[in-house]
Amino acid sequence: MNRKTRSVCPRCLEVIDADVYEEGGKILIRKRCEEHGEFDDVYWSDADLYKKFAKWQYRGTAGIKLTESDKGCFFDCGLCPAHKSSTLLAIIDLTNRCNQRCPTCFANAAVTGYLYEPTVEQLEEMMKLLRSEVPPCPAVQFAGGEPTMRNDFVEIVRMARTLGFPHVQVATNGMVMARSVAFCHDLKEAGLHTVYLQFDGMTEEPYKQLRGYSALNTKLKAIENCRRGGIKSIVLVPTLMKGVNDDQIGNMVRFAASNLDVIKGLNAQPIAFEGRVDESIRKKGRITIPDFIHLLEEQTDGEIPKESFYPVPFVIPVSHFVEAWKKVPQIEFTVHPHCGAATYLFVENGRFIPITDFIDVEGFIEFTRRAAEEMNRSKVGKLKAIAGLIAALRKFIDKERAPEGIDSLTLLANILGIGTRDSLADFHRKTLFIGVMHFQDPYNFDLERVKSCGIHYATPDLRIIPFCSYNAFHRPLVEKAFSTPLNKFRSD
Ligand code: SF4
Ligand code: SF4
Repeated sequence: MNRKTRSVCPRCLEVIDADVYEEGGKILIRKRCEEHGEFDDVYWSDADLYKKFAKWQYRGTAGIKLTESDKGCFFDCGLCPAHKSSTLLAIIDLTNRCNQRCPTCFANAAVTGYLYEPTVEQLEEMMKLLRSEVPPCPAVQFAGGEPTMRNDFVEIVRMARTLGFPHVQVATNGMVMARSVAFCHDLKEAGLHTVYLQFDGMTEEPYKQLRGYSALNTKLKAIENCRRGGIKSIVLVPTLMKGVNDDQIGNMVRFAASNLDVIKGLNAQPIAFEGRVDESIRKKGRITIPDFIHLLEEQTDGEIPKESFYPVPFVIPVSHFVEAWKKVPQIEFTVHPHCGAATYLFVENGRFIPITDFIDVEGFIEFTRRAAEEMNRSKVGKLKAIAGLIAALRKFIDKERAPEGIDSLTLLANILGIGTRDSLADFHRKTLFIGVMHFQDPYNFDLERVKSCGIHYATPDLRIIPFCSYNAFHRPLVEKAFSTPLNKFRSD
């Protein structure tokens, strides 16, 4: 497996050629900058898994075009006509203020010397822009900095719901939530669905290294306050670094499973190395998606094997099916297959049962793909087609291995959007989502991946910029253009 791509020089951020190639069972990336020399890194630590995931690469289209294609990625963001995915999740930074000083912050929050804080009017325009995509962007995540530091945060959540976002979430360190149940309750009332909670481990050590202080109790308190305030959807978001918290993945998943009434998932983020990182630290600390998957298998004694995981675009045929059935454009998860992986788990008497244990997911997805094609072609009445389809789904279910009390047929019908709202809620109550997304840094950057990115920042100049492009390149330019120097801010 060898391919050419474009990447960047970690020193000057010049766009340069790169080779992605297989060696010793791993996938590596290597590039050379005329001025700053050669750089290499691990791209994926399991070549077999890389090849398996590569099968599910799709080419999508952007839901909106706001800029012209001119100089190429990532100068033309965006979204430009060359982009291959619409916005699955929009990120809006509400402020660059923060109540932590994490040594690992990719947003460089709180230390820039200027205040970036879009006005409510700007935020409204940004959200309207996202909702004007075709299909409309379905989910917005407020981030920063620490978004809960804004006094008008509850109002901003309410505005997002009023503007039609079906899903509203916040990425937070949990500090403000840990102080106030009333705040959590107000957020719930305003329409917040999910708290993406920074959560790096079950002991204090990772927090000391990644956040600069002992934060575990704050996290536990934030979870408890969400529970008491009525927020029933928390996703734990660990930043993973080898030698820091990679031995705690299994315990974090166990912790999530024992709080299933409020914790709905864990979404791990292997650390991204920005700036001038010491070679030895980077090579020692680098962790990739396959590392996470292997460690989870090891740390759960094989209960969550690597075969449980699939890349994000694996589910695209489901979108095609729903579109063929409802004749309404659906969001397609066309992000690059090497950006992220996910699975769903059921928890039974403390034991994990991945969905792949009792459902032939590959058979089901292939069947769905063919059913969508058939529905688009045939003149058979839709209801008749659906009835036949539900009956046919049985062959993908192994009833003997299914968790007790789970109606697998209803589960599959739900996935295809032909279940009832109640049964869908029931599914979410009993499952735990496990995901991993490896944000790119200048050392492993692959412009092919960012072209298919579905996680997009909205900016006050009304552009929509892919996440990894924004953090590697555009962030300081956008923030400076729309910020106030802190000394001016203080004297006003
Ligand atoms: S990342 Fe996407 S929007 Fe940005 S320049 Fe490349 S194709 Fe265009
Ligand atoms: S945010 Fe980065 S890692 Fe995630 S889909 Fe976009 S390009 Fe890929």
